[in-house]
Amino acid sequence: MKAPPFAYRRASSVADACALLDAHGGSARILAGGQSLIPSLNLRLSQPELLIDISQLAELRGIRVSATEMIIGALTRHADIERSAEVRARFPALADAARQIAHPAIRNRGTIGGSIALADPAAEWPAAALAFDMRFTAVSTQGERSIAATEFFKGLYETALLPGEVLRSIHVPLPAAAQRAAFGELTRRSGDYAIAGAFVTASVTGGWLGGTRAAFFGVATRPLLAARAMRALDGSAGDAAAVAAARAHLEADLDPIADLYNSRATKLHLAGVLLARLVARLAAPGG
Ligand SMILES: Cc1cc2nc3c(=O)[nH]c(=O)nc-3n(C[C@H](O)[C@H](O)[C@H](O)COP(=O)(O)OP(=O)(O)OC[C@H]3O[C@@H](n4cnc5c(N)ncnc54)[C@H](O)[C@@H]3O)c2cc1C
Repeated sequence: MKAPPFAYRRASSVADACALLDAHGGSARILAGGQSLIPSLNLRLSQPELLIDISQLAELRGIRVSATEMIIGALTRHADIERSAEVRARFPALADAARQIAHPAIRNRGTIGGSIALADPAAEWPAAALAFDMRFTAVSTQGERSIAATEFFKGLYETALLPGEVLRSIHVPLPAAAQRAAFGELTRRSGDYAIAGAFVTASVTGGWLGGTRAAFFGVATRPLLAARAMRALDGSAGDAAAVAAARAHLEADLDPIADLYNSRATKLHLAGVLLARLVARLAAPGG
């Protein structure tokens, strides 16, 4: 199938994109890497009257580090994150995750901002944002605001972004010395969306876990923090008993849903397998 007819404007700046969004209301859509939007147009799942192309806006691209956070421009491509020495050094789990997103051709065009704004429940970045306690900056003609990842993902492809807002940047707090992080996902074939995936972060001091955050994707209608499981792990050494206690909470935490190929029970089982693997990695001496 071919895309329905639409008008096209290339934004000259973020302010221009915001002004265009304002002028065209709900009938306009932002075009970033186009790796999700263009297929959805071709399948006629989406029929916007106007595409506002932000893909050439250098001000939205790049990775920089301040005293307290890493700031990733919304147009930064998955491939840029995968190859960034800065990301690899400070957040190896994010570099690992970038490499698992689709295939090189898609990673060379798809952007982290597009992934966050789309909020696909099976995507890596939204769950990473929860596990690493990220914040997002959104801009509109009204100004800018900062939104915590924990407040952002509202439901299936539903976010806290308001009509007229452009996602400008993603803010990742720099890890404390004791912080460790692990990422894993289970797929049918390399490059597929994950059947289930997770990020776990925790501070590990003297072998004890604290401030544990376990975020899952591919199991529910949105990425989720497993709050009860996290509490069960805090104060433990990530040993088998603590992991078993945490796994027992996953059904209530995640309320998994089946997809076309995997039942709710399979999703729950795989989430538990991932949690055990990732906690073991975090808790390992020198892990
Ligand atoms: C075959 C295939 C396999 C894939 N596998 C995976 C996978 O395993 N994991 C994964 O995470 N993703 C996967 N993707 C999706 C891919 O990562 C997309 O690149 C990503 O989801 C969207 O980024 P984009 O820059 O292409 O956004 P676009 O497609 O341009 O836009 C997506 C949506 O976000 C909105 N948007 C984009 N940028 C902004 C912004 N800055 N502010 C406000 N709204 C914005 C658009 O209006 C649109 O609604 C796959 C895609 C394909 C085609």
